[in-house]
Amino acid sequence: MINIDELAVFCKKKGFIYPSSEIYGGMAGFFDFGPLGVELKNNIKAAWWKAHVHDRDDVTGIDGSIITNPKVWVASGHVGSFTDALLECSKCGFKTRADHFIEDKLHMDTAGLPLKQIDEIVRHHKLKCEKCGSQFRDAEGFNLMFQTNVGPIAGSVAYLRPETAQVIFADFRQVTDTSRLKLPFGIAQVGRAFRNEISPRDFIFRCREFEQMELEYFVRPDQVHKCPYLEEFKAYELMVYSAEMQEKKQEARNMSVGEALHKGIIKTPWHAYWLAFEHAWFAGLGVRPERLRIRQHLNEEKSHYALDTWDLEYNFPFGWKEVQGMANRTDFDLKQHIRHSGKDLSLYDEDSKSKIVPQVVVEPSQGVERAFAVFMLEAYHDDKKRGNIVLKLNPRLAPFKSAVFPLVANKPELVKKAREVYSSLKPHFNIYWDQSGSVGRRYARADEIGVPACITVDFDSLEDDSVTVRSRDTTEQVRVPASILQSVLADFLSGRELNELGKAVKSG
Ligand code: ATP
Repeated sequence: MINIDELAVFCKKKGFIYPSSEIYGGMAGFFDFGPLGVELKNNIKAAWWKAHVHDRDDVTGIDGSIITNPKVWVASGHVGSFTDALLECSKCGFKTRADHFIEDKLHMDTAGLPLKQIDEIVRHHKLKCEKCGSQFRDAEGFNLMFQTNVGPIAGSVAYLRPETAQVIFADFRQVTDTSRLKLPFGIAQVGRAFRNEISPRDFIFRCREFEQMELEYFVRPDQVHKCPYLEEFKAYELMVYSAEMQEKKQEARNMSVGEALHKGIIKTPWHAYWLAFEHAWFAGLGVRPERLRIRQHLNEEKSHYALDTWDLEYNFPFGWKEVQGMANRTDFDLKQHIRHSGKDLSLYDEDSKSKIVPQVVVEPSQGVERAFAVFMLEAYHDDKKRGNIVLKLNPRLAPFKSAVFPLVANKPELVKKAREVYSSLKPHFNIYWDQSGSVGRRYARADEIGVPACITVDFDSLEDDSVTVRSRDTTEQVRVPASILQSVLADFLSGRELNELGKAVKSG
C-alpha cells in the first residue's frame, strides 16, 4: 500500500485533491476537491445516503445550518469541554497536540487523559520541545471550535459547527412533528463540520474543515435491548478489539456478531447491528474486511455522555485509526437540550400513555474525507505489468463510469460514429471523450483515474455497428452492439461480468 504522502501527490497530480489556496502558500488542514475529487466525494455521499436513508423505512434526513444559535453548543457541552490537550514550549512557543506528541515519542495512548496526568507523563519522560529542546508549560485545554461574529453586532459570538449531530437534536421536535416516524427511527445528515485542530496531519485524515455523514438512531427506553433487524447480521464476521483485549494486550479477533453479543463484548443488539451495518457498507464498496476492525473505547477515552463507544477502524499506512465513531449517547443530548431550551422534546407514547425521551442507542458518525482516503488507498494498484497505476474504485464510486474513444482521430467517419455512441450514453452516465494519443495511452490514462470500462469505436464498428468494451480491472475486451450498449454498461457497472455481456475479443 502506498503511504499517505504518496496518496496526496497522486491526488494532486490527477485532480482529485489540492491544498486549498495553494497559490498563496495554502493553509494547513484545508483542501480543495478538484474535478475528479468532487465526483468521488459526491458519489461517496450519495452511496451513504442511499444505504442509510433511501433504502430504509426507518430513517429520514435533514440539512441543517452550519452556524446556529450558540446556545446549542453550550447545551451540548462543546463550549465547556470540546478540547484537546495542548503543549506549548516555554521558550519558543511551539505548540503541539499533547496526545499525538506523546504517541509519537513514547508510543503511548494518552487520548482523553486529564491534563494533570499529561503533565506527569511529560515530566516523568523528560519530554522536551522538538524545535528548541526547552521545557513545555503545563498542558492546557484548547477548544477546537472556530468562532465567528454574526452581523455587525460586537460580541455576537457564534461557532462553526464542530459536528453535524447537535443540529439533529436541536431540530428533533420539528422533524418528529412533520414526519410520520415511529420509534425506533433515525435522523441522518451530511454536511460540513469545522474543528480548529491543533496539528492537522496525514493529508485529509485530519483536516480543519471536513464533512460528516451522521445518523442519530432513537429507540424507546424499554426497547434498547430489542433490535428487530439483528438477525440479518448475526452470522456476520467482524474483527473485534474490545477494551478488555486492549487492556490484556491481546490481539484483535475475528468473531461473528452473534458471538460478540452472546459473550457480552458488544453490550446491546442495536450497537452490534449498526457496527455490522457500517462495516458491511465499506466492505460492499470494496474495502477488504481484513483491513477493518471495530475497537471499543477504553474507559478513560470515552466521552462523558457515552455509555459505550466503538470505532470502526481502518489499517492506514500510518496504523489502525478511526474512520467512524459509534457512540451510545443515551438520552444525554435530548435531555441537555430540554434543560437548556426549556422546550419539551419528549414524545408521547401511545402504549404507555406517557411521555418518553428516546435513547440514542448509537450514533454512526462518519467523516467523508476519511472514507475518501480509505477508498483511494484500497483502490490504488501499481500494475507493473501494465506499466501504469490502476485505480480499482468500485464502479458506484468511480468519478467517470466510462470513456469513448474513436480508434483514430483523423478519420471523420469514425469520429462521427464515436460521437454518436458518446452522445447516446452521455445523458445516462458521467462519461468523457478522449481522442488524443494511442488507444493504449488512452486506456492507461483511464485506468489511472479509475474508469471501470472504456469503449472504442473502430473500423469494424462502421460495418457491424458494434463497439469494443474493455474492463479496467481485467483488461478483458468484448464486442457489443451499439444498440444495447447503454444496458450493457449499466449491467457491467452494477457488477455483472463483462464476458457475460458481449462476445470476447481475442487479445493480440
Ligand atoms: P479523532 O479521535 O481521530 O480526533 P474524533 O473521535 O474526534 O476523531 P468524532 O468526534 O468521533 O472524531 O467524529 C466523527 C468522525 O468525523 C470521525 O470518525 C472522523 O471520520 C470524522 N472526523 C473527525 N475529526 C476529523 C478531522 N479533523 N478531519 C477529518 N475527519 C474528521
